[in-house]
Amino acid sequence: MLQQTQVARVLGFYAAFLEKFPTLQHVGRARRTAVLSAWKGLGYYARARNLHTLARTLGEATLPEDPAVLVTLPGIGAYTAGAIASFAFEKRAALVDTNVARVLLRVFAPRLDPRTARGRKAAWALAEATLPRTGRATWTHNQAVMELGATVCTARVRHCHRCPVRGLCQTYERSRNKMATGVSETTGKARRISSSKPGRAASAVRSTMKYSAPRDMSDRTTGIV
Ligand code: SF4
Repeated sequence: MLQQTQVARVLGFYAAFLEKFPTLQHVGRARRTAVLSAWKGLGYYARARNLHTLARTLGEATLPEDPAVLVTLPGIGAYTAGAIASFAFEKRAALVDTNVARVLLRVFAPRLDPRTARGRKAAWALAEATLPRTGRATWTHNQAVMELGATVCTARVRHCHRCPVRGLCQTYERSRNKMATGVSETTGKARRISSSKPGRAASAVRSTMKYSAPRDMSDRTTGIV
């Protein structure tokens, strides 16, 4: 439901939907029209159809935990597979949505655009490289990077002064150099990603959870990359 839709909008539908369909098996046993009816008003109806197809495909089986298997199921892309594996099963799985891609590229590869295929590929590689060692820590880490993108390093504004990863952020460093020299920075090669930095990023990003982010989650949305 949160794909491309704000939390505040989803909240009104989520509880009612779960009331009608407490499990995936309930979705699978229902007629598609009943699922679409429960989804009515939320929009992006392909999600409801995909959910129904997924539930029918699974039958009485439960969702697999491996993102490589999840991604083969109907309606589950790379982001959703990573999110399910990480958040539902605490697996060491990467995920990249628009917020995560923006943060990772700003920190490590500011010359790349997350809207391009090259940028998306780099974002996924960085997401893999910065994962903590355990699945449980990955849950927190992934949530922290998403929160950083939603509250501190947003598409509209960068709150670098209160960002926990500014010490290793190339975008921040470049903007400081630009301010210090007064020279427009339009030339020069992108710095190579230091092999030590993803590890440093992982621990710095995890410290995001200690940052007192706004409690209001109503503006959150998941843009699938
Ligand atoms: S230091 Fe600034 S640009 Fe870098 S991740 Fe933080 S908010 Fe974004």
